[in-house]
Parts: sequence; structure tokens; C-alpha cells
Amino acid sequence: MAAFDAFFLDRDGTINRKAAEGSYVTSPSELHLLPGTGPAVAALNASGAKVFVVTNQRGVARGLMGPADVEAVDAQLDRLLAAHGAHVDAYYVCPHETGTCDCRKPLPGLLLQALARHPGLSPARCVMVGDAETDVDAGLAAGTRAVRLAPGGTPSRAEACYPDLAAAVAALLA
Ligand SMILES: [Mg+2]
Ligand SMILES: [Zn+2]
Repeated sequence: MAAFDAFFLDRDGTINRKAAEGSYVTSPSELHLLPGTGPAVAALNASGAKVFVVTNQRGVARGLMGPADVEAVDAQLDRLLAAHGAHVDAYYVCPHETGTCDCRKPLPGLLLQALARHPGLSPARCVMVGDAETDVDAGLAAGTRAVRLAPGGTPSRAEACYPDLAAAVAALLA
């Protein structure tokens, strides 16, 4: 039996390069995988666990992009990952403004949606991985484990910090 049921991955700053503060990845050409990400996701796939992307995209609520733009970016992510033999099982997106929904991280709604749609998954056998403390909090609120991509020594409620997704995956699957 696989050690993990599912990995919940944040998108921007975890899988791909983050846009500048206050701006958003709004088109496929702005999507750039972070180093080591393709093989890391392929390793998660090979472990037998599901891989879900859970991402806040408030730029939709702000009118900076539409839902179709988010889908186009996620489709490009699928293509970039496929080049590494990697795939995402499902995307869960919060397009809402802060304080208007129950799915914008740090709230756990996106993870709870995924868990509801995949009733075989045990939260305690899932891990949330993200570069922000809001990712960690969303995971913990959903009952999953949580690791953060941040320099060592960063104050965090995560069980561990790693410099990037590749390092986190190597440690979790070791
Ligand atoms: Mg992020
Ligand atoms: Zn939301």
C-alpha cells in the first residue's frame, strides 16, 4: 500500500514561478516550472498517490482574468508536466475575493472538496505542500499533514520546511 493517499500541491511558488507581488499568472506563456518540479511530480505519481493542485486565484474576482484563463494556464501546466511523464489528477481553484467564500486558503474548502469527491482518501495519509503559511494552515484545517517550501528556520506550523518541491518530495517519499 502506498504510504500516502494524496498530495495537495499549491500552484504558484510551489510548482511554477510566482508572479510578482500583486500580479497573477494570467496566460500560458507566463507559466514556468520551478527547477526539479517535473520529476518531483512524476515521483509522486509513481508512488501511487493522487496529486491535486489547490490554488487561490483572486485575480478572477478582481477581473484581471477569467475562469477560462485559469483553465488555459492549468492546461499548459499539464503539457509541461507531461514532458516529464508527470500529471495532476485534478485542479481545485478558488476564484473568490478574500472573506467571501469557504475555499480561499488558509480555509480548507478546496481540500475538503477533493476529499469529498474521493472518499477513499484518509486526510491523515495526505500531505499539503506549499510555499505560504496559508497553505500549511489549509492543510492542517483539513486534517492533512503539511510541509512548507521555505528556508530552514522559517517559523511555521508545518512539520518541516524544505527549499523546494523536489527536496520535499525526496524527503517525504524516502
Ligand atoms: Mg504559493
Ligand atoms: Zn473561494
